Amino acid sequence: MKLRKVTAASAVALTLALTATACGGGDKDSNSSGGGGKIKIGIKYDQPGLGLKEPNGDYSGFDVDVATYVAGQLGYKPDQIEFVETKSADRENALSRGDVKFIVATYSITPKRQAKVDFAGPYLLAHQDLLVKKDSKISKGTDLNGEKLCSVTGSTSAQNVKDKIAPDAQLKKYSGYSECIAGLQSGAVDAVTTDDSILAGFAAQDKYKGQFKLVGLKLSNENYGIGVKKGDKETLDKINKALEKMVSDGSWQKAVDKNFGPADYKNEPAPKIGNIVQ
Ligand code: GLU
Repeated sequence: MKLRKVTAASAVALTLALTATACGGGDKDSNSSGGGGKIKIGIKYDQPGLGLKEPNGDYSGFDVDVATYVAGQLGYKPDQIEFVETKSADRENALSRGDVKFIVATYSITPKRQAKVDFAGPYLLAHQDLLVKKDSKISKGTDLNGEKLCSVTGSTSAQNVKDKIAPDAQLKKYSGYSECIAGLQSGAVDAVTTDDSILAGFAAQDKYKGQFKLVGLKLSNENYGIGVKKGDKETLDKINKALEKMVSDGSWQKAVDKNFGPADYKNEPAPKIGNIVQ
């Protein structure tokens, strides 16, 4: 009698343990392979033309299209993708913690970041630039040290301002570029500085049409990579293969035309995998 009780209790415990394991396994599955599971991908939510969460809950932009194509090559249908917002300053941690399987979020490959995460790609080459009001006096020759600039915490753009572009400028840092754009519109800052690809996307928005202009400075080379957890070579190799295919089958160009066409952004040609422009 006593033995039977213990056995029954053990059986319950065993069932619970198995259930818990199965759940855990399912979660892990959802982050690692195709089939019925989901895949979590980090993108930006506030960058029109690149990574945008629309008011109706849809996602759009070049990074979203690249992410969707790559996920497809990894065996995930669009409805198996769960997009997660990864702001500039959060990207390395999101990968290290395993919050997302990979990140496609205007994420420049840099040696400092490569110490913490691995990058597939590059899949786009952009350049740091300035966005100013249409009537701004700021032009190519302007010393930016006297200006109020805005950029984003954890971005190469903010770092470049401090290190080389204008160390004495008043630099306002926010967590996303949309906040900088609001500051530019209100006059709180004189210029927003980040990748030309991102700035062109904002300038082309209906609500900003005719208000802003890009100065046209190529202040840096920003090689966009797809971030993966450090050491996850399997995913890295699969993503690189997917990116190569995206270019060779014409999908890359289609995504460029669809997302950068409306912003009139003249992008650089598709980079070769592993070719990082210094
Ligand atoms: N591409 C640059 C970076 O990775 C600027 C854009 C961004 O903040 O995502 O920092």
